[in-house]
Amino acid sequence: MKPVIVVGSGFGGLASAVRLRAMGWPVLVLEANAEAGGRAAVFRQDGFQFDAGPTVITAPHLFDELFTLLGRDPRDYYELMPVDPFYRVSFPDGSKFDYVGDEDRIIEQIRQFSPDDVDGYKRMAAKSKEIFDVGYTRLADKPFDNLSDMLRIVPEMMRLRSDQSVYTMVSNYIKDERLRQVFTFQPLLVGGNPFNTPSIYLLIHWLERKWGVFFPKGGTGALVRSLVKVLDEVGVQVRCNTPVAKILVENGKAVGVETESGERIDASAVVCNADPSMVYTKLVDAKHRWTNTDRSIARKTPSMSLFVGYFGTKGHYDDVAHHTIVLGPRYKGLLDDIFRKKVLADDFSLYLHRPTASDPSLAPAGHDGFYVLSPVPNQRSGIDWEANAEPYFDRILDSLEQRGMPGVKSRIVTKKFVDPRYFQEQLRSVDGAAFGLEPNLLQSAWFRYHNRSEDVGDLYFCGASSHPGAGLPGVLNSARVLEKVMERPATPIDVPARLRVAS
Ligand SMILES: Cc1cc2nc3c(=O)[nH]c(=O)nc-3n(C[C@H](O)[C@H](O)[C@H](O)COP(=O)(O)OP(=O)(O)OC[C@H]3O[C@@H](n4cnc5c(N)ncnc54)[C@H](O)[C@@H]3O)c2cc1C
Repeated sequence: MKPVIVVGSGFGGLASAVRLRAMGWPVLVLEANAEAGGRAAVFRQDGFQFDAGPTVITAPHLFDELFTLLGRDPRDYYELMPVDPFYRVSFPDGSKFDYVGDEDRIIEQIRQFSPDDVDGYKRMAAKSKEIFDVGYTRLADKPFDNLSDMLRIVPEMMRLRSDQSVYTMVSNYIKDERLRQVFTFQPLLVGGNPFNTPSIYLLIHWLERKWGVFFPKGGTGALVRSLVKVLDEVGVQVRCNTPVAKILVENGKAVGVETESGERIDASAVVCNADPSMVYTKLVDAKHRWTNTDRSIARKTPSMSLFVGYFGTKGHYDDVAHHTIVLGPRYKGLLDDIFRKKVLADDFSLYLHRPTASDPSLAPAGHDGFYVLSPVPNQRSGIDWEANAEPYFDRILDSLEQRGMPGVKSRIVTKKFVDPRYFQEQLRSVDGAAFGLEPNLLQSAWFRYHNRSEDVGDLYFCGASSHPGAGLPGVLNSARVLEKVMERPATPIDVPARLRVAS
């Protein structure tokens, strides 16, 4: 039997490979870069290990499921450690809010910030649960490739007021501007502007409260390695340094791929984890595309991009929490600059990651490892990053010196950064979008890239720009959708039981 080829080894691609293998398909993963993981790459430098991308692990059962599907115990492969607080939100006026899962603790802090908002928060949390019960439980792993699927949910979406943005919805319940920011920054972690992302994304609040926030021992890279390992055990190769140059189409169906080195590999089906905008415009000949034409793709809105600076310090910053949101003086104005005006602002709001708060092994003894992430416009801005990146990083570090990390610049022993060029060139994302398509109303559910191509038979999509969307729960759920839209093989291949080596 010819394998199903998965193009790309981000979490969506690896999860799809597991699920397809569990369905009985032979599977081959082809990855352009030297290591698996996509946005979850790992940078190793001067004894430090920096996770390049995702660090906030939510809905952990979605990872566990991948191992149990193959008859494995996830605890033999990786360990997730709870993070508390989930995030510390730091304001320019010096106040701090610990965003946690425990209701009493969160309410106590709301009381200190704005006693009048306690009741509003309770109602907002109830709303978040209501949205979660529909938006996540019922829709996240359902295919949306028929218009009728979409029409069926429209009344429910109207009832839940999905036409409102996350910010508007939260503002219906909460008056204090700082608290509004605490409960609306989350869409930024999946590429959305809280002022434009539909309120269905308020479900993130309930998802975090329900299942918690975790960090893997050994970093997010350890999760990637555990998936590559279990795939290897069941006969799925993740071939790195193998960029795909073309999807081969015969009689309207995907029949294989051609790699950049000219190798042809035949396939029963092709699943693309790579950016669908790139796949359609660069890898699938225009003569096979009626729906996903170059013109229709050019009209789509890519998410913002990111500047991420990685650095290691001599000594520790014990007061810095594992996840800190360092909010700047402007909220809406800054988001306007990033998403709409596409200019590089002088101020910023940052996400500061200190993995060594949970796992000191990620830095040499006596040192701390960090990354600092700043949302920036995507490459449609025309910003000259060659000239701007170094000074931008320097300004971020200056600001961190004032915001809880005194003397940081003089204590840095190693550093590096990525900017929108990395997402565009290294990860092959159109316009350097860090999260694929922006999650706005007209790019969600049926309007997002379908998991089953409407143009080419046996061509499928998983990952951030396909339904349901970006973020680890999103891309892991896109693999669940594939299970529903792809056929099982006529003669499935058994998954080998785990070989237990006597110690
Ligand atoms: C800095 C950062 C921080 C984030 N933090 C969080 C977080 O804390 N929590 C969270 O839930 N989410 C977070 N996200 C979002 C999350 O990381 C992504 O949505 C998710 O990892 C994307 O996975 P994916 O399956 O779409 O694949 P990607 O990770 O996008 O991988 C796609 C892969 O396809 C490969 N590829 C592309 N073209 C080809 C080709 N032609 N041939 C072969 N291979 C190809 C690429 O090299 C890449 O490896 C973060 C994202 C970023 C960038």
